[in-house]
Amino acid sequence: STHRLIGKNVLITGASSGIGAATALLYAKAGANVVLAARRLDRLEVLVNEARSLNAGGVYEAITLDVSRIDDVKEVFNRTTFPHFDILVNNAGLVKGLESVGDIDDADIELMYATNVTGLIKLTQLFVNHFKQRNQGHVVTIGSIAGIEPYANGSIYCSTKHAVRAFTTSLAKELVATPIRVTEIQPGLVETEFSQVRFRGDKEKADNVYKDLDPLTPDDIAQDIIFATSRPPHVQVASSLVFPTNQA
Ligand code: NDP
Repeated sequence: STHRLIGKNVLITGASSGIGAATALLYAKAGANVVLAARRLDRLEVLVNEARSLNAGGVYEAITLDVSRIDDVKEVFNRTTFPHFDILVNNAGLVKGLESVGDIDDADIELMYATNVTGLIKLTQLFVNHFKQRNQGHVVTIGSIAGIEPYANGSIYCSTKHAVRAFTTSLAKELVATPIRVTEIQPGLVETEFSQVRFRGDKEKADNVYKDLDPLTPDDIAQDIIFATSRPPHVQVASSLVFPTNQA
């Protein structure tokens, strides 16, 4: 049951598409109040309207937040009208190019680390301090199977997701004696705009990634996030690895 989410305040990064968007709508459906954060405000506003049309009684807000910009991250609490938060979902992330180490652009290395790692860490720092003051809270990170099993030509992305896993595990241990919970969700292949970003907008290449297998939908992962954050307070879902049934 998701009744524990009614009236909870949730902030989701990368909420403008894919897993983040599906998660925002599922929290709204469960009766939570949701701040949707990303760079594309127009997309977020469409989703806010969609959430309102569910008539679940929550409050929904769209805010611009580029997690790769530290100044943006520091402003986060000033950009919403929510007085406090119960759940942070660190979902923003990307892979740009899957290339041999020697061919990867400096800018792409920096963008992947600034978004997937440094941005996630800095935002989590702010929320952990906020959660400590409230003596409750739940930090969710979206890692990846790439954070467990690195693959060829994915050295940068895989290393960012390993960093997410190490950071999340360490944080969980640090907070073990507190009521603050920590969860890492580790998806396998999910059909989102992720592959279009990876192939720099080449839709044909992106579509090819999902050929010959039934990929997960963003909703499959959203369901998992909802599950992990709606358990009773004494239950901590430390991690959850979810694959398409036919992904090797
Ligand atoms: P999408 O490309 O559909 O969504 C990514 C989201 O991240 C977008 O909403 C984008 O919004 C946002 N984003 C990107 N950069 C930033 C930034 N600097 N600041 C704030 N938001 C940002 O992909 P997915 O839904 O698939 O990806 C979500 C997460 O899931 C990522 O962390 C990804 O690594 C992870 N994942 C995905 C898998 C897959 O197969 N799809 C597998 C395993 C993990 P905007 O551009 O508006 O800022």
